[in-house]
Amino acid sequence: MITTAQNPQGTLYIVPTPIGNLEDITLRAIRILREVDLIGAEDTRHTKKLLNHLGISTPLISYYREKEVQRGAEIIDILKTGKSVALVSDAGTPAISDPGSVLVGLAHDNGIKIVPLPGPSALTTALSATGFDYTGFLFLGFPPSKKGQRQKFLSSLANCDYPVVIYESPRRVTALLADALDIFGNRQTFWARELTKRFEELQRADLLTLYEKGVSGKNRGEFVLIICPGEKEEVEGDTVEELITWYRDNAELSLKDVSKRIASDLGISRSQVYQKALELWHK
Ligand code: SAM
Repeated sequence: MITTAQNPQGTLYIVPTPIGNLEDITLRAIRILREVDLIGAEDTRHTKKLLNHLGISTPLISYYREKEVQRGAEIIDILKTGKSVALVSDAGTPAISDPGSVLVGLAHDNGIKIVPLPGPSALTTALSATGFDYTGFLFLGFPPSKKGQRQKFLSSLANCDYPVVIYESPRRVTALLADALDIFGNRQTFWARELTKRFEELQRADLLTLYEKGVSGKNRGEFVLIICPGEKEEVEGDTVEELITWYRDNAELSLKDVSKRIASDLGISRSQVYQKALELWHK
């Protein structure tokens, strides 16, 4: 049991586990998994294998997506008795496109000490290998699985200035690449497949090349996709009128989006630009 005199409640540890290669677990994570009273696991059978490999016999309780609220409340009650709990998911960092956020939220609400451990995540592992020189990125986890919603989701990202990082299952990756190609055009992309595993593959290519590869069936295993922003055209014009006309003739943006962009670039009110755009749009 890891409790202190000042803190009669237990501590919730967030413990990342390997995303493939079992060597990718920190010494601290191993110690915490050994020392806590209980491990909350997305799939207890899956985590049991890791624990057996590490020679750890800490008891497990299941904590999975469909029962996050109920199990979360049960784990909070256990923490309140002074017992310490480690939260793990099947692979990588809990609560990153995995169960965890409900329990962590409840721990905050109940004044329980939370200790997150750094460790493996497919997100950071893939990003570190892109070589893309941007100051930031946009991580969105899994895209919607239904085609219409996925297309809407991708359209909303068309003007994003940062690389977009997406998780996808092998079953849907080709459909995702097809839609991305349709909506973004042939942008530079990175795919990281089977990270840390035997058939690990990193590829920097355009969307079309990766789509063709997907269609040819070479897309087994788990994926992270990172899609770069599109090339920005040099906008021509100084006045509101010139800018509206340029966007109308050169960009595939709605009147509303054009107004928003010009207003933010020039630091003036959006409604002012919108009124002008209404006058000029259909001329
Ligand atoms: N919590 C995990 C993390 O921190 O990375 C992510 C869990 S999410 C349910 C699983 C998704 O992560 C997979 O569908 C895939 O997109 C990505 N992923 C996990 N392991 C991977 C690996 N070894 N190689 C490539 N992608 C991986």
